Amino acid sequence: MTVSVIDASPHPSYPPDMEESREKRIGTSLSNERAFRTKQAIEAIYSPRFRSWSEVSSLSKAVRERLEAEIPWNTLSNVAVLSSTRKDAWKALFETPDGNRIESVLMRNRRGQFTVCVSTQVGCAMKCVFCATGKPGLTRNLSCDEIVDQFRFLRDMAADANLDGEITNIVFMGMGEPLANYVAVREALRIFTGPLGIGMTRITVSTAGLLSGLDRILSDPLWPPVRIAISLHAADEAVRKKIMPSTVPGFIDSLVAWSQKYAEAFPEKRRHLTLEYLLLSGVNDSTQDIRKLVDLARRFGRVRINLISYNTTDSGFMGSDPDTVRRCKDTLEAAGIIVTIRKSQGGDIAAACGQLAGKNHSQTS
Ligand code: SAH
Repeated sequence: MTVSVIDASPHPSYPPDMEESREKRIGTSLSNERAFRTKQAIEAIYSPRFRSWSEVSSLSKAVRERLEAEIPWNTLSNVAVLSSTRKDAWKALFETPDGNRIESVLMRNRRGQFTVCVSTQVGCAMKCVFCATGKPGLTRNLSCDEIVDQFRFLRDMAADANLDGEITNIVFMGMGEPLANYVAVREALRIFTGPLGIGMTRITVSTAGLLSGLDRILSDPLWPPVRIAISLHAADEAVRKKIMPSTVPGFIDSLVAWSQKYAEAFPEKRRHLTLEYLLLSGVNDSTQDIRKLVDLARRFGRVRINLISYNTTDSGFMGSDPDTVRRCKDTLEAAGIIVTIRKSQGGDIAAACGQLAGKNHSQTS
């Protein structure tokens, strides 16, 4: 199976001291204390009130000092924060403990609140031709703590900068393929929807369509029922294969069959699927392409289509012109399909979808 090409790509393990989760390491560090100290320390890590162990005054000074010496408050060090000129997007560049660079984005959303976009891998193995992240390939998966700590950093940054509004949404649309890092992503979802208090329907995991991961979700009691978005980008398999080389033979039919099982597994109406469709000029935006998309969407049942404009990378592609985008939207809507157009944010700081490459484009702080 071609899927194995992706599953077999190198996933170098984490640095040795990151193999165990932070929650476990806190437990080990405080094993001589009464059990509720561990609980208190874990609660403190997720609380918006503290910025370091030294501030957690409910713990004794000795415990605080031990934690400070043994458990980093945040696994990532922040290298830079770039702000878009419109002040609606901020990109944070981080360094992992083993010296890799990853990026996350904080965006003001339609309701005036905020969405955090997290990365799940250093690089990506999917090699979608329009995306900058995949160019250098995959270096490694991020740990659950590294995924969660992107959010914690941006939450604290937003609070310290007195940004008006709360972080209500999380999208797994940064660097990497979330379903290729299944266990860490699932664990991060547990923390986001639990101690970090984000609603299940306000979290979207976007996938290039890794069928093994999609199948696993269906029967996994530990997978929180968050929203799923599939980067479809072409209704025709041959076209999709050209722009998304991870496309396996029979992908479209397998995805339709999967979506039916998904609808059975998650029958609530609000559990619709989203199909993302990046409009590329001359590639997937002809009248015939959109007709194929309509036919396919009908096979899916409860689905929404999110039309995405191309954010410039050095791929050589061009986004569809605004008239074509409007025509696509009208055609889909006329067919009774719910369509949204993704507003691009952060293009001026290379923070938009597909532009995250872990590079520091301008200043450092
Ligand atoms: N690997 C996951 C999530 C990361 S990318 C996935 O493929 O879904 C998040 C979204 O941005 C995906 O829909 C992806 O196809 C899209 N994207 C990638 N490059 C883009 C670009 N240059 N312009 C606009 N969207 C892009």
